[in-house]
Amino acid sequence: MKRIEERLRRAWDILVSRAVKHKDSLQAAKVGYEDFVRAVEGKTDDENVSGRTSGNYLHPIQRICADSDLPPLTGLVVQERKDHKTGEYKKLKPSSGFAGSGLQTYAEEMSSVLRHDWKAEGNPFLGADGKAVDEGKVLKGIATGASIFTYVKNRGYAQTLFRDGLLKAYSSKCAVCGIAFEEILDAAHIKPWSVCEGEEGGTLSNGILLCKNHHRSFDRGLWWLSDDFTIEAKIEFKASSIGKRTITIWTPDDKAISPDPLFLQYHRANKPD
Ligand SMILES: [Zn+2]
Repeated sequence: MKRIEERLRRAWDILVSRAVKHKDSLQAAKVGYEDFVRAVEGKTDDENVSGRTSGNYLHPIQRICADSDLPPLTGLVVQERKDHKTGEYKKLKPSSGFAGSGLQTYAEEMSSVLRHDWKAEGNPFLGADGKAVDEGKVLKGIATGASIFTYVKNRGYAQTLFRDGLLKAYSSKCAVCGIAFEEILDAAHIKPWSVCEGEEGGTLSNGILLCKNHHRSFDRGLWWLSDDFTIEAKIEFKASSIGKRTITIWTPDDKAISPDPLFLQYHRANKPD
C-alpha cells in the first residue's frame, strides 16, 4: 500500500471531522497549513514540516469536491500569521492554490462547507475493497478495459480517475483537433453519464478525450462518429470545420479502451436533433 493513498484518506477524515465538529464556528474549524500537514503525516508539534506539502493532499480533495458538486472542503486549510504582541497565531484565508466554485464569496462557500452533511458522503479514498485507493493500480486496471467502479465507489473520485485515465490514453490531446492544453480538455462520455447503467459510466471505452469545443458540439449532436471512428456531421458543422475531407478521430492503440461501437450507436440514436 502506498503511503500517499493512506494520507489522502486521513486528510479527508481530518477535514470532515473539523467541519462536523465546529459547524457553528468557521474560525474554530479552520486549520493552518503546517498543523494540517502534521495531522495528516502523524507528526508531533515540535517536528518541522513544510506547509507546501499540503498541496499533495489538498489538490486531489479539491478536484473530487469540484467533480462531485460538493462544497470546497479544502477551504478550511488556511494561512496563519503570528501576532507579535500576543505571540498567538491568527487564522486567515487559504493560499492562492485554493479554488472554490468561483460563484460565491469565500465566506459563503465556507458556510456551505459547514452546513453540508459530510457524514453521508463517505470517504472517497476508501476503495470498493474497503482499503485505501491505490491510484496507480486503478489506472493500470482501467487501461485494460476494467471499469473504475471495480475499484472506487465514490462518484466524484471515479470522475477524477476517469479523466486521468483518458488523459493518459489520449496522450493529453483532443481526439479531434489535437489541442493539448489540459485546462481545456474534458473527459467526455459517449453515452451520457446521467443515463449510464452499472459499470458503463466508469469504462474508458465509453469516453473520448475532447477539447471543450468538440465536447460541447458532440453533446449537442452537431457531429457524431461512425463505428470506424469517422466524423459525420450536420451540414453547417461540416462546412465550417471539416469540408470535403474524411476525418477519423485519434484513438488509443489499445482496442479495449477505444470508443466502443455500442456506445457510439447509442450516441447516434439519442443525440439531440
Ligand atoms: Zn478539439
